[in-house]
Amino acid sequence: MVKIVLTSAEQSKLTPDTVLQMLKTGNDHFVNDKLTARLYSAQVSASAGGQYPKAVILSCLDSRIPVEEVFDQGIGDVFVARVAGNIVNEDILGSMEFGCKVEESKLIVVLGHTGCGAVKGAINNVKLGNLTELLDKIKPAVDSSQSFNGDKTSKNPDFVTAVAKKNVQLTIKNIRKQSEILRDMEKDGEIKIVGAIYDLSTGKVTFM
Ligand SMILES: [Zn+2]
Repeated sequence: MVKIVLTSAEQSKLTPDTVLQMLKTGNDHFVNDKLTARLYSAQVSASAGGQYPKAVILSCLDSRIPVEEVFDQGIGDVFVARVAGNIVNEDILGSMEFGCKVEESKLIVVLGHTGCGAVKGAINNVKLGNLTELLDKIKPAVDSSQSFNGDKTSKNPDFVTAVAKKNVQLTIKNIRKQSEILRDMEKDGEIKIVGAIYDLSTGKVTFM
């Protein structure tokens, strides 16, 4: 099946729950090598006049997470914001507000992942140029994971995953706290904000 692009009419019929289900199904396609066939040149020309994406996905910078492919999405389907450690600042929040309030996307996904280098850097208290300030934004997740039972170092993959999960939860909390627009849209049922973890070894996304 060849997929062209999402239209305004199709977008307006979507609900946060149907979009969530579409992303889950898309990830099933990804892990089973059943990605939808796309004519990218046709998608490029069909989407040139406007975009009606269904979701905003905030991912880590990590090169092993090709976000559109991970959810079997094509051109014009999703907004993707990427920053090491999938944290929010006012620019990312502004981008999410644009995606949801102006462009009417229905779902925000904060996507963390196993084996995250940024999370390891925060655990190890790495200091390096501008990265220092970025890692400071992940440290609250390290601090609130101290009840973890076991080795609390970056060498323990389970601890790194626990901090990555906590970091996703805190990022969602920060979105609700720092964006009145998104908080109100969620309260009114116009959008949902959900967290998920991508497993680097399987390609599977587990929603939280
Ligand atoms: Zn990462």
